[in-house]
Amino acid sequence: MVHNFSAGPCILPQEVLDQASKSVKEFGGTGLSLIEMSHRSKPFVQVMDKARALVKELLNVPETHEVLFLQGGASLGFYTAAFNFLTENGKGSYHDSGTWSSKAIKEAKLLGDIEVVASGKESGYKDLITEYKLATDTDYFHFTSNNTIYGTQWKELPTTDCPLICDMSSDIFSREINVSDFALIYAGAQKNMGPAGTVLYIVEKDLLGKTGRKIPSYLDLEVHIDKDSMFNTPPVFAIYTSMLMLEWLKNLGGVKAIEEINNQKAELLYNEIDSNPLFEGYATKNSRSKMNVTFNLTDASLEEKFNKMWTDANISGIKGHRSVGGYRASIYNALPLSSVQALVNVMKELATVAV
Ligand SMILES: *Cc1c(COP(=O)(O)O)cnc(C)c1O
Repeated sequence: MVHNFSAGPCILPQEVLDQASKSVKEFGGTGLSLIEMSHRSKPFVQVMDKARALVKELLNVPETHEVLFLQGGASLGFYTAAFNFLTENGKGSYHDSGTWSSKAIKEAKLLGDIEVVASGKESGYKDLITEYKLATDTDYFHFTSNNTIYGTQWKELPTTDCPLICDMSSDIFSREINVSDFALIYAGAQKNMGPAGTVLYIVEKDLLGKTGRKIPSYLDLEVHIDKDSMFNTPPVFAIYTSMLMLEWLKNLGGVKAIEEINNQKAELLYNEIDSNPLFEGYATKNSRSKMNVTFNLTDASLEEKFNKMWTDANISGIKGHRSVGGYRASIYNALPLSSVQALVNVMKELATVAV
């Protein structure tokens, strides 16, 4: 068995992969493959309905909000968010925790006046700055709940008087959240929910249609709500596999249950990083992510030895992002505690052979 710490696309449970594979051959007694049948056919409409219903159930989504499965990645979400919430001549406020929020800021600037209210740039994004002031006339506040690359995460999510928008790509479904606090949540599936190819949007309906802008149809969330998330051909396989993943999560006891397991996994790994003199964490302690654990060797000369040891232990995907270096262990929902234990064992072993 390979211990898959990939940052994205992410590990999926074996049972989800088994069922997804079967659906490619034949789906639901139709004699057809899931990926060769009409997305308007009853079997697929049922998949879409079920996927949306599972999101509502698992996250306690209130009636005020709607759930959509769209395309374009979270990267198109950056632009979509601004199009739907930034008023003509208005202002958007952004929190910058690096890479993904920086990209969100760049896209939003194409549309109007964007203010960055806090940035961790000076610390190399090791620190997630949680102190900031919002202009009273801002249209919305945008933040990234978990920075996948630097391994930082908001411990407590912010609340605001203005509409709150969050890119939750890399920690959605990892912990309980209060959806009613948000005007918009968007998340690429491939970090913690399913395969690449679809993006989840959870949006407060009454806040849409107020920007005074002409919005291209695909970027207009009202269009998608009106069409029940079937404005055009949806990515059927990605949505079906995400649905299977959400069913898996529900059977496990839901978000509350996975949150406890995620806490255990993070604690196990950070304890090793903090107690083993050969390692040090990248993110500062109070900014640490429970999804992406970034760390370095304190003695760079051990790199080759460590790399061989974890490779021999069937560990995959812990090389840090090319912009940060070091190591990054992504411990998403589907990664079992036993895989974290396997990594910790290798770290302990390194300490015994290095002296
Ligand atoms: C990966 C990632 C993105 C980009 O997602 P795409 O689906 O590749 O566009 C955006 N935000 C965060 C937090 C991510 O981790």
